[in-house]
Amino acid sequence: METDVLIIGCGPAGLQAAIHASRSKVGVTVLGKPSNSAASGTEIENFLGTCLTDGDSILSEGIRQAESFGAKIIEQNAISSAREGESFVFVTDDGTEIRSKAVIIATGISRLKLGIPGENELYGKGVSYCAICDCNFYKGRRVVIVGNESEAAVSASLMTSYASETSWVAWDLKANGSLVDKAKAEGVTMYASKPKAVEGDGKVERLILEDGTVIPTDGVFIELGAKSAADLAMDIDVMPEMDDTIKVDSSCQTEVPGVFACGDITGKPWQVAKAVGQGCIAGLSAASFVRKG
Ligand SMILES: Cc1cc2nc3c(=O)[nH]c(=O)nc-3n(C[C@H](O)[C@H](O)[C@H](O)COP(=O)(O)OP(=O)(O)OC[C@H]3O[C@@H](n4cnc5c(N)ncnc54)[C@H](O)[C@@H]3O)c2cc1C
Repeated sequence: METDVLIIGCGPAGLQAAIHASRSKVGVTVLGKPSNSAASGTEIENFLGTCLTDGDSILSEGIRQAESFGAKIIEQNAISSAREGESFVFVTDDGTEIRSKAVIIATGISRLKLGIPGENELYGKGVSYCAICDCNFYKGRRVVIVGNESEAAVSASLMTSYASETSWVAWDLKANGSLVDKAKAEGVTMYASKPKAVEGDGKVERLILEDGTVIPTDGVFIELGAKSAADLAMDIDVMPEMDDTIKVDSSCQTEVPGVFACGDITGKPWQVAKAVGQGCIAGLSAASFVRKG
């Protein structure tokens, strides 16, 4: 099948791009599973105009809106990509080949996991992968940040404004020295052993470290970074950054003409507000690219 703009990703960024591109009267196809969006299953309390809303409502309403403007949604994954002359060719799970004039990469990221006992079982019951999203739920409570990089330092500093006690577990510390000093000056307690297990009866109660230390806590924030579906981008000549993000200019265009990117895949902040802002820009830019072509 053929389309003007092919959007890879059915999360907030991809859907906002679909709305703006299809309202510009170009043919739009969205590929992706909303149930795999980072927003699915979340409660969002910091998106404009919504005090507390569930991510699945944003996604289902977004799909309805995008379809009402003419976008076609295909709930499948892209499994391969290629450039053929001026066209981009993507193949889906069931072997369907989709050819387009422009592509928007909105595949999001998946947060890296520790892989320790209790992590999956207590996810959403005290285990979190996003301090900026969930900080408000931990007012006056004890939290532990887990991670070696600067993002863990930033999260630890942030949590000192909310939590009664903030600890930071970093067993191979690589964070920027000034960020580490700042976190310490704000009262963060540091531990240098690797986490072994998260424990609790139906909710997080403690983090156990490999050296036997037991940290009583209400929340464990795992801040290890992310991995993305950047290999699809490489096959159409877009080279991801060292951290797997895709670099874009102010019109959300990548280094390859006709290829745009938006949302979590372009880097932090991993937030719905940023995803839809870039989705708007990418959708308009891709439509404009197709019209000029
Ligand atoms: C637990 C949690 C809580 C959060 N809370 C908040 C909050 O309170 N406030 C806030 O602003 N943000 C929050 N976020 C972050 C927010 O959900 C993300 O920033 C947002 O969903 C990013 O949108 P996106 O469209 O870039 O990526 P995603 O929503 O992750 O969507 C990516 C899409 O790409 C698709 N995809 C991936 N690979 C392929 C492929 N090969 N082929 C086709 N499709 C593909 C996926 O299936 C998905 O549909 C939270 C996230 C988590 C995990």
